[in-house]
Amino acid sequence: MMVGLDVGVLLPAFAPSGSGAGRSGTFREYRTESHMALSNIRVVLVRPTHPGNIGAAARAMKNMGLRQFSLVSPSGFPHAEARARAAGADDVLDAARLFGSLEEALAGCRLVVGTSARPRSIAWPSLDPREAAAKIVEESTHGQVALIFGAERTGLTNEQLDRCHYTVSIPADPQFSSLNLACAVQVMTYEIWCAASRPFPGALPDTAVAGPDVPPVSSEDLDRFYAHLEEVLVQIRFLDPANPRKLMRRLMRLFNRSRPDHNEMNILRGILTAVQQAQRGVIFDKTRRESQN
Ligand code: SAH
Repeated sequence: MMVGLDVGVLLPAFAPSGSGAGRSGTFREYRTESHMALSNIRVVLVRPTHPGNIGAAARAMKNMGLRQFSLVSPSGFPHAEARARAAGADDVLDAARLFGSLEEALAGCRLVVGTSARPRSIAWPSLDPREAAAKIVEESTHGQVALIFGAERTGLTNEQLDRCHYTVSIPADPQFSSLNLACAVQVMTYEIWCAASRPFPGALPDTAVAGPDVPPVSSEDLDRFYAHLEEVLVQIRFLDPANPRKLMRRLMRLFNRSRPDHNEMNILRGILTAVQQAQRGVIFDKTRRESQN
């Protein structure tokens, strides 16, 4: 079984209209449960002053599968510039909810993460963007989560950061670490999309373990390997079938975790076969020596 199916049960997603997705089989799109939970993540802009940034943030969100957009006391909204920069994410813009205070915008959230151009780890627990995204995605499978961004010129105030469970800073040149507001939204929402795409929140993608052109072996191959391994372990008396304890389970867990590819599996099976041959050789040599005695 593919490890990816263990946690992120794949669900059919919305197909782009006219693509014939899901029918012809030529183009199939899937989202994991984590992607479904992205609807529980709200992006909150606090007192944004440039309508263009509001539009660009909406576009960044839609690119990354997020829809819940909240604006706290924005200046100049709605605005033609926001619509122009949204470039097709009008639906996210139109559904944006307006609030008079951050407190109202955060109602019902179980986790609040604030973004800051300056690391302020002394006062607030901080995460890097990837850790924050993993945390956000994980929590979003249980309930509402907010990711908040400050005003272009001033950022989030200390009082606003006090409302955050964590702060996150996007690493950048310390001499010039303040990103454009919508760019910061893009970076964070990208990390969130990536975190939702991983089989296990926070884990490395499968491709980091086995390159895409060397696929991991099938579960049948693994089963054959486990049978072979057990046979050898019994033969060399490392495993007592009368008292197996949890040895095979632990070894299976080890190999399942490492997800060997075909080449690696061939090496492992080769080693097992060599052990069996060597063992036969020992017996043969012993017999020969005994017969010589
Ligand atoms: N002078 C402000 C910068 C505000 S930029 C400050 O020092 O905080 C506007 C918003 O974009 C910030 O409040 C934050 O939400 C986001 N942002 C900009 N650069 C960021 C970075 N490097 N890491 C995280 N968020 C950033």
